[in-house]
Amino acid sequence: MKRLKLERVSHWFGRTRALDDIRLEIGASEFVAVLGPSGCGKTTLLRILGGFLRPTEGTVTFGDDVYSSPLVHVPVERRDLGMVFQSFALWPHMTVRRHVEFPLKSPRHKGTSEREKREAVERTLEATGLTSLQHRLPGELSGGQRQRVSLARAIVSKPSILLMDEPLSALDQELRIEMRREIQDIHRLTGATIVYVTHDQGEALAMADRLVIMKNGRVEQAGTPREVYLHPRTPFAAGFVSKCNFVKGSWTGDRFAVQEDPSLLFDGAAVSEVFRGMGVYPVRPEQFRIAARGRGLEGRIANKQYNGREIHYAVRCQGTIFTVYADAFEDYRPGNSVRLVFEGTVRDGREDGLDREAFMVYNRPAHTDRIAGERAPLPVSGEAAETPRHGEQ
Ligand code: ATP
Repeated sequence: MKRLKLERVSHWFGRTRALDDIRLEIGASEFVAVLGPSGCGKTTLLRILGGFLRPTEGTVTFGDDVYSSPLVHVPVERRDLGMVFQSFALWPHMTVRRHVEFPLKSPRHKGTSEREKREAVERTLEATGLTSLQHRLPGELSGGQRQRVSLARAIVSKPSILLMDEPLSALDQELRIEMRREIQDIHRLTGATIVYVTHDQGEALAMADRLVIMKNGRVEQAGTPREVYLHPRTPFAAGFVSKCNFVKGSWTGDRFAVQEDPSLLFDGAAVSEVFRGMGVYPVRPEQFRIAARGRGLEGRIANKQYNGREIHYAVRCQGTIFTVYADAFEDYRPGNSVRLVFEGTVRDGREDGLDREAFMVYNRPAHTDRIAGERAPLPVSGEAAETPRHGEQ
């Protein structure tokens, strides 16, 4: 099984460095989402993998085949890959079927018989739910159907690599969720290696085997969605995939003492050096539990937003606003004085061996201090509702 490998890849557009020393190895059949803010180099990376752009420095290999190096540049039509674009890139005068047939006309498929090609087209139309629409023109299709044509065209030649550049960003929210499932199905069906560029953290977390978070042309962090979510390496990586609170305090070895109450100790065996150096502990909004009393950071509810299954609270603790996601039945009101108990996620570590130590919390009891009636709304006192300002990204 072939691995896709980027070694020390850099790219300059004039004086702009779009990619800076990218080193990345992508396994066969792996689904990698490349995530990052506008201008961080995602599309440049994809164009280099696709052969549309020759990197200024570095090497791209697929198995034993060198795709790009200072001496070699394999053009796009000779690479074993398919591409899906944000804009769908369909020709208005060509029917759905003609689009799907098109890649099989390339010189790479000279040895394939007409019968085999016809079968591949039928199979692909079937797999993407386009059989009944095969004689339509793009102008006669919905947005989701057009994107399916673009997917069908990319997979018909069974490429080993699928490159996708924000394929769902032109679709509305509901359709995007539906198409996520279709892309996952296509991944299972084809077993292709997928490199998927997106701005959308939810999309990346939901679908990918691995996230590559980019910033200023560099890889900020690469890891499984769980690793990046639970163990972000930098504040940027933490804040980019979701909301994150940064609790201030001091570190002694793997123990973190909260600044405002040093008797509150968190275990930070899995917290990165970057956070240790900054004297903070990253806490996801659902790793805090709001309690009426008990061992926790003292605070006051500043704002509350009902979100169906959960309530999003902003809790002010000595001038810092923390975001907390609580179950919908945990009903507090702006102004209530509360405790924020750090619960983390206690798990047995069987899934990836990373978490056993990470979220054991010293400042228990967490559940044991729950008493009957604790969740009942407390009387409103003091501060009015506020919007979050600090302590979160
Ligand atoms: P977006 O999410 O907005 O599409 P991106 O992460 O894909 O952004 P790139 O398109 O790869 O970012 O651009 C990376 C950097 O290279 C940016 O600073 C961009 O302005 C610059 N750049 C990209 N293409 C060119 C070009 N053809 N000429 C000059 N600069 C370019």
